[in-house]
Amino acid sequence: AHEGILRRQSLRESAARTYARSLPIVPVRARGLTIEGADGRRYLDCLSGAGTLALGHNHPVVLEAIRTVLDSGAPLHILDLATPVKDAFTTELFATLPGKLAEKARIQFCGPAGTDAVEAAFTLVRMATGQDGLLAFSGAYHGMTADALAASGGARHNGVTRLPYPYDYRCPFGTGGGRGAELAARWTENLLDDEKSGVPRPAGMIVEPVQGEGGVIPAPDGWLRRMREITTGRRIPLIVDEVQTGVGRTGTFWAVEHSGIVPDVLVLSKAIGGSLPLAVIVYREELDTWQPGAHAGTFRGNQLAMAAGRATLAYVRENGLARRAGELGARMLARLSGLAASYDCIGDVRGRGLMLGLELVDREAATDATGAHPPAPALAAAVQRACLDRGLIVELGGRHAAVVRLLPPLTITDEQADAVLDRLADAIAAAIR
Ligand code: PMP
Repeated sequence: AHEGILRRQSLRESAARTYARSLPIVPVRARGLTIEGADGRRYLDCLSGAGTLALGHNHPVVLEAIRTVLDSGAPLHILDLATPVKDAFTTELFATLPGKLAEKARIQFCGPAGTDAVEAAFTLVRMATGQDGLLAFSGAYHGMTADALAASGGARHNGVTRLPYPYDYRCPFGTGGGRGAELAARWTENLLDDEKSGVPRPAGMIVEPVQGEGGVIPAPDGWLRRMREITTGRRIPLIVDEVQTGVGRTGTFWAVEHSGIVPDVLVLSKAIGGSLPLAVIVYREELDTWQPGAHAGTFRGNQLAMAAGRATLAYVRENGLARRAGELGARMLARLSGLAASYDCIGDVRGRGLMLGLELVDREAATDATGAHPPAPALAAAVQRACLDRGLIVELGGRHAAVVRLLPPLTITDEQADAVLDRLADAIAAAIR
């Protein structure tokens, strides 16, 4: 079955398929961190549905929540009508909201994907400010719909001004380890205040507290506070995209809690649906300028996702999984740093909580203006492959796909974390041979 399924899919499916290329496995069963393939092989899954599975695969509380809705006779498809399931999800989500946002928040169900919520956030701030342009950051990833895409990646797109994101290791200002974040902040201020810069008054700024797809680049807390000051002072709504960083992954329930900033709009998806599709924006009440019907969508009421999401949020909160992610992540990062000391090809290791990255470089080649060796995407692909051979699923990311990413579920045990790092170390040793 394994080979046949892979062959048929490679013939029938779009050439754009990605994970299926780098991870030629056929999952048939999954529980927690473990996936079992049609060929009977087992894998430790550190991709977790691109960071979606906070509780791993098929967690009992998630399955139970889904079954309860299925067995209750409640409608599964009900557009955006009020239901007890939606009420319970919203109550649980609001109980987790950071600081001042919790006092007077509004929620809008978008859906079903993260990119839909990003798009809704843009529409909201445009409506609220009467402006059109957006500010986003180099290396960002916000999704694949038109404006989300325009705010992502490297090229300049219509109406989006890209600002430098602090990336110490490949600091565009060549000051790595030093004043990069400060210079990036000044660049932003200058661009916004210089009438001749050609940047129109923006409708909003969108930022990831840790760039995920961009290669696991955590923003320094001080820099995020500067972005908050800069936007508050100029009355620019600040949109924080926590699609990937949310629900405990970085060591606090929401990643903005590290810096203490309060966003005007929070964009949420992935883990909030407990492995089913769900996406929302949560925002300050004053921004709620929508007219009924101003933002529609058929699939804004996925009852199963709301139930699975409520169960996930409650489980993470009640079991202190955010703190656990922070502590275990720090230990894993320390061990990855040890690996970097033994292997020249590891240029940088970084992360926050259970969002970890290891940037592979070509040590033979000369360093560039940023002081770093060039990225080594072919080596990263070889490491990913060697990991798979050893029963470990890892993701690649970063601007050059040279960052090996680990996004394990928050429920990963100490022993499993050791096994993951053992296999990764072994895979690196094999890939450079
Ligand atoms: N924002 C961030 C920070 C993301 O990581 C992603 C997905 N990786 C998205 C938005 C888009 O979400 P989706 O793929 O569900 O559209």
